Amino acid sequence: MKLILLGPPGAGKGTQAQFIVDQYGIPQVSTGDMLREAVKSGSDLGNRVKSVMDSGELVTDGIIIELVQERISQPDCVRGFLFDGFPRTIPQAQALVDAGVEIDGVVEIQVPDAEIISRLAGRRVHPGSGRVYHVTYNPPKVDGKDDVSGEDLIQRDDDQEDTIRNRLEVYREQTQPLVAFYSDMSDAGGGRPAYCAVDGVGDTDAIKVQVETALKEINA
Ligand code: AMP
Repeated sequence: MKLILLGPPGAGKGTQAQFIVDQYGIPQVSTGDMLREAVKSGSDLGNRVKSVMDSGELVTDGIIIELVQERISQPDCVRGFLFDGFPRTIPQAQALVDAGVEIDGVVEIQVPDAEIISRLAGRRVHPGSGRVYHVTYNPPKVDGKDDVSGEDLIQRDDDQEDTIRNRLEVYREQTQPLVAFYSDMSDAGGGRPAYCAVDGVGDTDAIKVQVETALKEINA
């Protein structure tokens, strides 16, 4: 099964992706995670993309398309994959079409801007482990410290409020057009790929139920 999770930054794509990966045994292909790994490792690619990522702008299509093509040619992707944070522009989506990659379903997670800003601005991360907290919804036991190691928590550079607003703007301008792109493709293709929208506000488990229903529709 080849799936796309679509939605603004902070919509909870990563959380729902984890559940889909466990349920369907397909790998999650997150371009954001791949790029962060590259930055951490200090590779050539990492050095080229770091400042763009910190500003909330998008990395160029050429780099992303090459990265994804390489990733989905790996053996663990033969039974399918889940794209999380890709495609993010029309040229990226078109590159999939041109490469003959047939998507089975697109799940769009919808969350209003005000909710996104509050979620991301309150997010704190323990850099060593990747553990994620939220100052209001999931606070650490001691303010600013990781529960397990007691080390300092940080705010991701791209989770600063100004950058979040920029990321939302970038989403609206460059990624939102994919809603029409895939809805139209679905209509023209007699329901393939299936296009499903879910309400991403509220309890994680309730959202998961909606995603499960969407996946059943895609599989039908
Ligand atoms: P994410 O964790 O998915 O929000 O990605 C973090 C950052 O990585 C984004 O703000 C972009 O700078 C970059 N990025 C991730 N995926 C893509 C993509 N498909 N196209 C362009 N830039 C991307």
